[in-house]
Amino acid sequence: MKYIIAQLPGDGIGPEVTSQAVRVMQQIGKLYGHTFEVKTGLIGGVAIDLTGSSLPPETLKLAKTSNAVLLGAVGDPKFDDPKIKERPENGLLSIRKNLKLFANLRPVKVYDELLEGAMLKANVIKGADFVFVRELTSGLYFGKPKKRWETSSGRKAVDSMYYTEQEIERIVRVGFELARLRRKKLTSVDKANVLESSRLWRQVANEVSKNYPDVTLEHLLVDTCAMSLIRTPRDFDVIVTENTFGDILTDEASMLAGSMGMLPSASLAGIPAKGEHIFGLYEPIHGSAPTIAGKDIANPIATILSLSMLLRYSLALEKEASAVEQAVSDVLKAGYRTCDIIDETTGTKQVGTQQMGSLVVKALKG
Ligand code: NAD
Repeated sequence: MKYIIAQLPGDGIGPEVTSQAVRVMQQIGKLYGHTFEVKTGLIGGVAIDLTGSSLPPETLKLAKTSNAVLLGAVGDPKFDDPKIKERPENGLLSIRKNLKLFANLRPVKVYDELLEGAMLKANVIKGADFVFVRELTSGLYFGKPKKRWETSSGRKAVDSMYYTEQEIERIVRVGFELARLRRKKLTSVDKANVLESSRLWRQVANEVSKNYPDVTLEHLLVDTCAMSLIRTPRDFDVIVTENTFGDILTDEASMLAGSMGMLPSASLAGIPAKGEHIFGLYEPIHGSAPTIAGKDIANPIATILSLSMLLRYSLALEKEASAVEQAVSDVLKAGYRTCDIIDETTGTKQVGTQQMGSLVVKALKG
């Protein structure tokens, strides 16, 4: 099969980590008989520098005519001045919106090999393996009214947590479909004891659950979820939640895996089910990490695992996706670490970005 993949490296460490994922993709092509035509586009700060826009029209066109998008990261401190209107992050928000990406998937897997250096107790996090499904297009970040105004009694501001039943239904279905492919447990996270939008969320989740009798649905308040992620992370399989709760909880959960450099993500425009080709954008959860850019020390594993998600959800290449995950696991088992995940006390070997990419390429099995 021939596939067109849009590669958007972006800023900082983005180009370094995406180029390693592309090497892994080309090796998968060789081993499994696929052709991946990789077309590169501009996004973020580098796009502003070269075109004046954080998401040039050509990039959007490229993304829309590809089978999937592999993105690095955006962000550059030189755009930090709040007076600057066109910022690198606008490119990311804009591409997600234009491609109608509504479901953000973030798997969190704790590798046994990284337990020694973990920030949390090994006996608590060992074996934790779950997926977050975060709603990406609605809720507090986009709901109206959203404004600031001045009154005689001082300044005021409002944001609105707004959801329609259709928005809730489609994201909850993503959670159920994923749970069906995994351990068949879905945790829906809300704040139904306080928020009206959460009460609707819970009601719709219960209605959707009637179509998935094989999946166990549980409801958890967001504050309880924040605690349980640290206390009993093995209890989770698939977690579905609204935009803001998801934004916060996924960063908390990323700490279980030891480093931002280990965690991939997918933003999908449809509901994944076995064998389906869903258009999506795949990127590591970390940002452009400007302080380590250009030093060949960034961990490319998050981007390589994002590639594995791309193969699984957008190209329906399950064998190939598993081969990438296995290769990453084998390289970690063999004791190779980038500097963000190294623990000197365990006799592991430190490698740079490119060498980590080469090791994964070499470990791939056809
Ligand atoms: P960051 O994720 O870039 O970095 C946080 C910390 O993790 C830093 O210490 C960094 O060195 C480290 N780190 C991140 N990725 C790593 C990797 N692959 N290997 C080793 N270490 C890694 O977050 P930040 O520093 O808050 O933000 C930097 C820039 O990135 C900002 O401009 C921000 O807006 C942007 N950002 C972009 C995205 C995105 O593109 N999706 C996400 C978050 C932040």
